[in-house]
Amino acid sequence: MAKENFPLIFERSKEGRLGYNLPTLDVPEVNLEEELEDVYVRTVDAELPEVNELELMRHYIGLSNRNFGILSGFYPLGSCTMKYNPVINEDVVRLPGFSHIHPYQDPKTVQGALELMYDLQVHLEEITGMHEITLQPAAGSQGEWTALMMIKAFHEANGDHHRDEVIVPDSAHGTNPATAAVAGFKVVEVKSNEKGLVDIEDLKRLVNENTAALMLTNPNTLGLFETEILEMSEIIHSVGGKMYYDGANLNAIMGYTRPGDMGFDVVHLNLHKTFTGPHGGGGPGSGPIGVSEDLAPFLPKPVIRKNEGVYELVYDLPQSIGMVKSYYGNFGINVRAYTYIRTMGAEGLKKVSEYAVLNANYMMRGLEKEYELPFTQYCKHEFVISCKKQKKLGVRALNIAKRLMDLEIHPPTVYFPLIVEEAIMIEPTETESKETLDNFINAMIQIADEAKSNPEIVQEAPHNTVIKRLDETTASRKPILRFQREG
Ligand SMILES: *Cc1c(COP(=O)(O)O)cnc(C)c1O
Repeated sequence: MAKENFPLIFERSKEGRLGYNLPTLDVPEVNLEEELEDVYVRTVDAELPEVNELELMRHYIGLSNRNFGILSGFYPLGSCTMKYNPVINEDVVRLPGFSHIHPYQDPKTVQGALELMYDLQVHLEEITGMHEITLQPAAGSQGEWTALMMIKAFHEANGDHHRDEVIVPDSAHGTNPATAAVAGFKVVEVKSNEKGLVDIEDLKRLVNENTAALMLTNPNTLGLFETEILEMSEIIHSVGGKMYYDGANLNAIMGYTRPGDMGFDVVHLNLHKTFTGPHGGGGPGSGPIGVSEDLAPFLPKPVIRKNEGVYELVYDLPQSIGMVKSYYGNFGINVRAYTYIRTMGAEGLKKVSEYAVLNANYMMRGLEKEYELPFTQYCKHEFVISCKKQKKLGVRALNIAKRLMDLEIHPPTVYFPLIVEEAIMIEPTETESKETLDNFINAMIQIADEAKSNPEIVQEAPHNTVIKRLDETTASRKPILRFQREG
């Protein structure tokens, strides 16, 4: 358990105490004051803590105990797929042939690494039904941007310079409209209908000769499968636009259906979600994209080609949009994803989708008595509830999320998607047991009861955590981003 007041490293410091033991210097000593310009030389010694190794370790373990991760408990963060990342991935990525190589090495000396990347691309082509994959983008959002830049290059190569509109549903993941704007397009919003799906009539009104693409998050952020994809595909293609599939949450459909077979021209994947790259805290991630044959000439370079059994990095691609990331993507995440795919096998990956969807539906039904379901049909890997009923009692979605922390559960995503009032977006993932799912359902029912009988306990939560309720305004206006010594 995290201790409330464990001493930080400066409080452990005692003058003269050492936590290291360096070998004697066997190279000529450099006098930094002579070598460096004056501006770079310290006039006052840095104030560093002086501790022994054990105290140093206690400091860091103490900090890590204040953290919450998937290995501490249930983490149903909607749209983030906080599932278990198998330890075998870590074994494989640490093999010296993968971890002790350098991106500037001659490709002849890293054939194994290139083979792994090539094979991973082949597997992802099979899983998505796309013609070719690039592993370069370092995040889902960067994959989205890469894809839109390729779509732009494609239209320009066809002389379609006027295509400057990207259509994005109001149920899209937030990165979709942001990406379209950053890539220089006008964002055109298409509405959802009463079932939470893209309104086809609205879409028909919005398409025209300026349409560059439709970006479809599927399942959408309500956790719902878009049932009219083939029709959307026809509408967009009929005006010369491209179909983009946000496949960050592929564990809803993997092994059952493929974006390539639904008429999509580009799809991005999040290897740090579906394919067990560890994530959180900003990375590193991997957001490969798969493209159709007519977009392939615009792929970022280099691409990996196999030529008489030898893997090569090919830069000679006249229509390429260029490099989007230094070197060849986040190789370590790609090794983990490859390990995952190979250990699961085709049947295993199919099971992943089955359990992800089953777990979400089980949980949704367990909550529907106490919480309002804005959409009642079957969901895919996640679902959204509304805390409208609780709001009438003075308890908001935010309060419920904070109260879950007292019950040692990581709060789900709140207030997203924007089209649901008092939204809580829940993604249990396929790796959780029935007992964990039941525990969460019971926790949520307990909180719903508390909202009726003792609302203060929910409104003032969390009570059991090291940091209590934050002043959110001050936290965002005047953030304290580093350790500050008192006094
Ligand atoms: C997570 C996610 C993204 C963005 O991926 P990042 O790697 O965080 O940039 C995009 N779309 C959906 C549906 C997502 O869940």
